[in-house]
Amino acid sequence: MIDISIIVPFYNESDSLDEFFSNIMPILKRLKLSFEILCINDGSKDDTLERLMLKKKKFPQLKIINFSRNFGKDAAITAGIDFAEGSCAIPIDCDLQDPPDLIVSMVQRWKEGFDMVLAKRSDRSEDSSFKRLTADMFYKVYNILSDTELPENVGDFRLMDRKVIDALRTFPERKRFMKGLFAFTGFKTTVIEYKRPARSKGSSKWSYCKLWNYAIDGIISFSIFPLRISIYLGMLVTFLAFSRGLWIFFRTAFYGVEVPGYASTTVTLLLLGGVQLMSLGVIGEYIGRIYNESKKRPIYIVRDII
Ligand code: UDP
Ligand code: MG
Repeated sequence: MIDISIIVPFYNESDSLDEFFSNIMPILKRLKLSFEILCINDGSKDDTLERLMLKKKKFPQLKIINFSRNFGKDAAITAGIDFAEGSCAIPIDCDLQDPPDLIVSMVQRWKEGFDMVLAKRSDRSEDSSFKRLTADMFYKVYNILSDTELPENVGDFRLMDRKVIDALRTFPERKRFMKGLFAFTGFKTTVIEYKRPARSKGSSKWSYCKLWNYAIDGIISFSIFPLRISIYLGMLVTFLAFSRGLWIFFRTAFYGVEVPGYASTTVTLLLLGGVQLMSLGVIGEYIGRIYNESKKRPIYIVRDII
């Protein structure tokens, strides 16, 4: 029986790989617990896989799960959770932005009886102010719209007990917004704070465009409120149109026919057209997702396990 499964996604991380292992290995060994390190090679195009295989010669605790192509970080973590044999698991980035020494206090909390130990970024001064502002807005909007509370500034870096792992394995959905799924499971949770450092080597794989899509995916996976907005908008517009109709009726009755301008007509038409298109778009988003889920394609494909 293994105590800890460390889950590490690797996507073109040839540069940061050495530093990661030289940092985490002494920390894990000092814990005096048995562990495995699940390295998920998420279709790297550089020599990440070769370097991982070299590392495995040095550290037998490594298990390399090699994807057939790039499936994204959420798929990589899902694979880690599927393959984990430990009594607890910790997903961690390999760029040292999730400081490995935090694992010690996580394990301590776990031994105290917590099922989930979250690592929360106490300050994000390393991020640009634009990124902080948009992240802030995302959490606000998400938590208003969704039923499950998403803790702010908490990433995938966390410790979860076997109970949580087993619960996560029962989630059949393809589109995996891991943060949301983690929060959905509930369990006895505690938080430890840390200051998130800048990336050690290489560059982030996230562009603003990717982050925007990620935010939309996250909200749509966990809330049907956007669908409801069209009902309320429809109700409001109907009410306004009805009141205006009444007003025109009485005005005509008392003052006779007046030749009206085109402006009000075109504005109303455009507004209604816009509202309808927007609502259609929202409905389309959900239908697209139903379509994708209904295909039941695998979340990831493993080429080989080394
Ligand atoms: N990653 C991955 N697949 C991807 C993109 C990223 O496995 O398609 C891994 C990457 O190798 C790293 C972690 O996810 O270990 C976090 O990536 P990154 O540092 O780019 O994200 P950020 O820290 O900016 O959120
Ligand atoms: Mg990073």
